[in-house]
Amino acid sequence: MVAGSAVRVQGLWKRFGQQVAVGGIDLELPAGKFIGLVGPNGAGKTTTLSMVTGLLRPDQGSVEVVGHDVWRDPVEVKARIGVLPEGLRLFERLSGRELLAYTGRLRGLPGSEVDKRATQLLDVLDLSGAQHKLVVDYSTGMRKKTGLAAALLHNPEVLFLDEPFEGVDPVSAQTIRGVLERYTASGATVVFSSHVMELVESLCDWVAVMAAGRIRATGTLAEVRGEAASLQQAFLELVGAGARDTGSDLDWLGGGSR
Ligand code: ATP
Repeated sequence: MVAGSAVRVQGLWKRFGQQVAVGGIDLELPAGKFIGLVGPNGAGKTTTLSMVTGLLRPDQGSVEVVGHDVWRDPVEVKARIGVLPEGLRLFERLSGRELLAYTGRLRGLPGSEVDKRATQLLDVLDLSGAQHKLVVDYSTGMRKKTGLAAALLHNPEVLFLDEPFEGVDPVSAQTIRGVLERYTASGATVVFSSHVMELVESLCDWVAVMAAGRIRATGTLAEVRGEAASLQQAFLELVGAGARDTGSDLDWLGGGSR
């Protein structure tokens, strides 16, 4: 697997009209780690991950993944990464099994290998019983797990996941977690975005904190947490949210009167 950096971002910008979604970030993500990209709603996490995975063209800046430029060398990069994007779209009229067979063939894997890997992934992700049902009938958690299986099928070096646990029940979350832990233990890199600090704290060994389109802190969990009691506390201090006083607002709320 890769030594050094899995991802190297330099001077990355993205604006949508007047809105600066990503404001000139530099970021180096170490290979072989379980990495959390954390930040409040609207921080620019999805925009960043979209640019890093070649789904959204930056206004400015460069991105290298496993040593290849994402925009100059997209085929090389896309062969080495797996992506579970936000608002995951799947082919609804295929069964989970068919979807994996199709993905495997698109990835250029031999049919017998796709069959073997799909069977194992469906089994580990607890989807075997539903493998012949159409994706349109899957629950949110089943869709995320199917998307994860599709992203892992070609055994990528780096896996990017945008909010992989959103809308997923604790049992499915535990299953996804187990698969990701096994995957990183073999030397692969996981980069996932989240605003759930407890999750990031329990899963990640490396974090990047983002707010208002900028990177506020990067490093190991212990480095970013610093003196704070928890990552949540450190995060609130970093993004400056602790000072907001809601005491005098919303004075009509509660108390039973209309
Ligand atoms: P969340 O945790 O809520 O998903 P995020 O950190 O992923 O947020 P982004 O989705 O990257 O944040 O959005 C960053 C900013 O860019 C937001 O202000 C958002 O409104 C804006 N933005 C993102 N995509 C677009 C778009 N396609 N058109 C216009 N504005 C956009």
